Amino acid sequence: MKLLRYMHQDRVRIGALREQAAVDLGDIAGGADMLNLIANWDSLKTEAGRHAASAPSTPLSELRLLAPVARPGKIFAIGLNYADHIAESGLPAPKHQVWFSKSVTCVNGPYDPIELPLASSSLDYEVELVAVIGRRAKHVPVERARDVVFGFCAGNDVSVRDWQLNTSQWVLGKSFDTHAPIGPWIVTADELGDPHCLELTCSINGEVRQHSNTQHMVFNVFDQIAHLSRAMTLEPGDLIFTGTPGGVGAVMKPPVFLKTGDRVRVEIEGIGFIENTVALERAPETT
Ligand code: ZN
Repeated sequence: MKLLRYMHQDRVRIGALREQAAVDLGDIAGGADMLNLIANWDSLKTEAGRHAASAPSTPLSELRLLAPVARPGKIFAIGLNYADHIAESGLPAPKHQVWFSKSVTCVNGPYDPIELPLASSSLDYEVELVAVIGRRAKHVPVERARDVVFGFCAGNDVSVRDWQLNTSQWVLGKSFDTHAPIGPWIVTADELGDPHCLELTCSINGEVRQHSNTQHMVFNVFDQIAHLSRAMTLEPGDLIFTGTPGGVGAVMKPPVFLKTGDRVRVEIEGIGFIENTVALERAPETT
């Protein structure tokens, strides 16, 4: 199933995709809370599936898609997880998984603007497969990590390179407002199947900059979940950005950063695409 959050008739709703239309699942989920739907999926999925197949639907053209998870409990992202991206970065291949977090406030909708910050012009893109956690989990063995994944969406780990690399901690450069667009929906893990054979592409104004396959991850999704869960409890709705392949703008010679008006499209096989246009951050209003 494909699950989405959307705005229709001035209300936020959650639903399931049926062809090119959304079926509202609010009555089944007890409201428009995607985290609640994910956490209770085992008991709701049969009814949700029945509803998705038969209830009235709203064409996608009449609604606005929102980030499928508005406010996850946490967002973790792995660095240096595709060989070609490691090579282009000039850094040695890491012996350990390199993790950083993105602030939960940088979640952004699948077709909403990405802000070019007032504080920097080093704005860059990273296409990534994003895993959505479905169950509370601690110390998950790698062979059971599949069971704690609810589903997957496409994501852009938007990065402000100078803020990322001026210090040893990347978190600020990865956490600017609007810099985690995700979507366009969550494809449940059972529908997507093997997450390690998916083409992923990022294009800027129609020009392909990144193109790889998730089979080239150094640490695969299940390695990542097993490792993270040794340190902390994973919870329903947590997001894991699983790394980006080569081709980011920062390593082009000379570097090519995103500018106002650029259309940034991130696409993953079996999921779909998100597309965000770069817009200058508005200066704060002074009173
Ligand atoms: Zn990344």
